[in-house]
Amino acid sequence: MFIIMGSGQKEKILDFEQVMQCGNCSTFSTVQIIMVYSYFMLFFIPLFKWNKRYYAQMTCCGSTCELDKELGAKIERKEITRLEVSDLAFKKGREEKCCMHCGYMTKEDFEYCPKCGNKLI
Ligand SMILES: [Zn+2]
Ligand SMILES: [Zn+2]
Repeated sequence: MFIIMGSGQKEKILDFEQVMQCGNCSTFSTVQIIMVYSYFMLFFIPLFKWNKRYYAQMTCCGSTCELDKELGAKIERKEITRLEVSDLAFKKGREEKCCMHCGYMTKEDFEYCPKCGNKLI
């Protein structure tokens, strides 16, 4: 007798549909929630899933953003059927901050200018 074990990663599109404005290209289109998980199986039967992550993907331009784990789990259990725009933080280029005092430019999330120490706006 031998035991066949294996593991891998799978993607599943959750049963969720909502039209919202894309944070990337500003078109109104459907957002899909994709669950990515790792699984472990024995005799080709998936035994358990772990390391679940949730992503929102816009159907217009395919831009994705990672969803909060709790939020994703609630969507999976159908406790939530609507998302707020604020739940989706599509990665955009970070805005540059500019120091009003010395002109130093940074994309980092500094609160104070690393060059002259004044507060960045
Ligand atoms: Zn888009
Ligand atoms: Zn400065």
